Amino acid sequence: MNLTKTVCPYCGVGCGVLAGADGTIKGDPEHPANFGRLCSKGAALGETIDLEGRLLTPKVNGKDADWDETLDLIAEQFNTAIREHGPDSVAFYLSGQILTEDYYVANKLMKGFIGSANVDTNSRLCMASSVVGHKRAFGTDTVPGTYEDLEQADLIVLVGSNLAWCHPVLHHRIAAAKAERPNMRIVNIDPRKTATTDLADIHLRIAKDGDVALFNGLLAHLADTGALNNDYIRDHVEGGLPAITQARLDDPSESGLTPQELSDFYQLWTSTQKVVTVYSQGVNQSESGSDKVNAILNCHLATGRIGTPGCGPFSVTGQPNAMGGREVGGLANMLANHLDIENPDHRDCVQNFWNSPTMSTQAGLKAVDMFQACADGKIKALWVISTNPAVSLPDADGVAEAIKKVPFVVVSDIMARTDTGDLADVLLPATGWGEKDGTVTNSERRISRQRAFLPVPGQARPDWEIICDVGVRMGWKDAFTFASPAEVFAEYVALSSASADFGRDLDLSIFADADYANLIPTQWPKDGKRFFADGGFYHPDGKARMLPVCAPTPCEGDGFILNTGRNRDQWHTMTRTGKAPRLGAHLAEPYVEIHPVDAAKLDITAGDLIELSNPKGTSVLRALITDRTTERQLFAPMHWTRQQSSKAWVNNLASSVVDPFSGQPASKNINVTARRY
Ligand code: SF4
Repeated sequence: MNLTKTVCPYCGVGCGVLAGADGTIKGDPEHPANFGRLCSKGAALGETIDLEGRLLTPKVNGKDADWDETLDLIAEQFNTAIREHGPDSVAFYLSGQILTEDYYVANKLMKGFIGSANVDTNSRLCMASSVVGHKRAFGTDTVPGTYEDLEQADLIVLVGSNLAWCHPVLHHRIAAAKAERPNMRIVNIDPRKTATTDLADIHLRIAKDGDVALFNGLLAHLADTGALNNDYIRDHVEGGLPAITQARLDDPSESGLTPQELSDFYQLWTSTQKVVTVYSQGVNQSESGSDKVNAILNCHLATGRIGTPGCGPFSVTGQPNAMGGREVGGLANMLANHLDIENPDHRDCVQNFWNSPTMSTQAGLKAVDMFQACADGKIKALWVISTNPAVSLPDADGVAEAIKKVPFVVVSDIMARTDTGDLADVLLPATGWGEKDGTVTNSERRISRQRAFLPVPGQARPDWEIICDVGVRMGWKDAFTFASPAEVFAEYVALSSASADFGRDLDLSIFADADYANLIPTQWPKDGKRFFADGGFYHPDGKARMLPVCAPTPCEGDGFILNTGRNRDQWHTMTRTGKAPRLGAHLAEPYVEIHPVDAAKLDITAGDLIELSNPKGTSVLRALITDRTTERQLFAPMHWTRQQSSKAWVNNLASSVVDPFSGQPASKNINVTARRY
């Protein structure tokens, strides 16, 4: 059977897949992300494409409805809210699962035509702190690394990242490189021992939010041992002295590591030229997430360990298209093509290009603030696309209550029943993976095509088309008449050319004459071009910024600290992976890892139930007693939802405290009490 070249819909590695309508799934040997390899989730995709549980018709107030009448209703409700309460009374909440074309038109509609920037995304929960860190240091949200850097590095530092479970194919590439070059060193910085730790030479069990103290200590060590690259700093970096002065004020022992551990790590880092620091949610999902990112970037900038093969900081994204979303301005504080919403010249450029009647002049509501505005009665019409905030946002019970207060809620989804969909006035059936066409960008800036290989089920439609149809009905026919995702992509590429004079990093000119149908996976700005080897940063003076960042005051509290994360074989709320029995066989039910000493103190034996609670909520989970976690530290997977297990889902425990710069929730290090249930 003919197989279609497409991309896995799960993590940000963005593996190429060969897929057939009969459920055949193979890794694409020609895709540069994976060269044919797939992890357990990707390999099981063929078992997840049935139609059980799918939403196949539009529904209004729970009843089947006609598409045209439903779209008319949405346009009328949004227009009424805007007319009566202003453009900021409406909001879109999107997802790193949707395709770049979907993201592009949603942002165009909200920012350029409705005139509000109230369009945010669940990528806020994933990468927003990295975006802030990049912009503060580089002037743009640039991820300079490539996957080949990981294979060429002599030292890989993995911070807050269980790569083996969350980005398995990337982890395999590192493992293969280490097998070939046993002198390659791997340091894993994580309070918990994970499958990733098993590959590491050094495991540093960092204390809660100890990252800034650790990397400030490294920066001070680099300065004190004459290991700075003064030529690189002189030519390409501003702010080195204040950052180093601040770094010297912090006490590295607040990282929770012993003097010997610190010394060993600092010496290894200092004596190795080719260092890649990979970081993920353990860094981003914190009250100090943005500062953690800049503490890491400071060390790479201070030593010129950036932009050359095997060198650099590398933020790996959790979702398949978090990068594409960022590129088209999917966050409430950005514009398409990495342009800035607060910059009047950037706004004018985009508005002229779109020929739009208005343009939001300030950042919109970030995810947590958006749902607070719902709770406060300020949002009159909300459209949630391809995500489930009523279970995935921190303080999820509060978010569900907030959504109930919005007078008009639209949810686009592939599934008939979700916790958020159950709160909607209108449900729109979207096409899913394998049924729709578009592009995604993976963690190394590689744009690949997702291609349809399945028939469209029922009355489902692609998100970009639904959004455009609403835009047309709201009165903007010319701006939202696209015949295909290829036309949307072409406009996005043309916007990149139109804004080229601003000299941003996001140069899509190589796609100007691209054959969309046959597009091969391509890295921007140009395969092989490196960012920052010779400076060329995007602040007005062309230099990077080292930022003075200050370690937060440690506050451990008396109870337990709960961290949440992914299981190897599940994805998000298991909408798709939950359908494959072999994936469920890995870890079949919700659990919490607890250290044997704590288990003994609480009179808990293996398999007992543990109740976790804090003022936000309560959760009951099966005890998994293991020394992979430390005393007073717990770990629980975040996949189970309220609908699947009303007592065993954990996002209701998470705090809605956010990083003050990125607005990213501090979803790690949750204070809870624990007892035998
Ligand atoms: Fe899919 Fe990520 Fe696995 Fe690759 S590593 S197959 S992108 S889940």
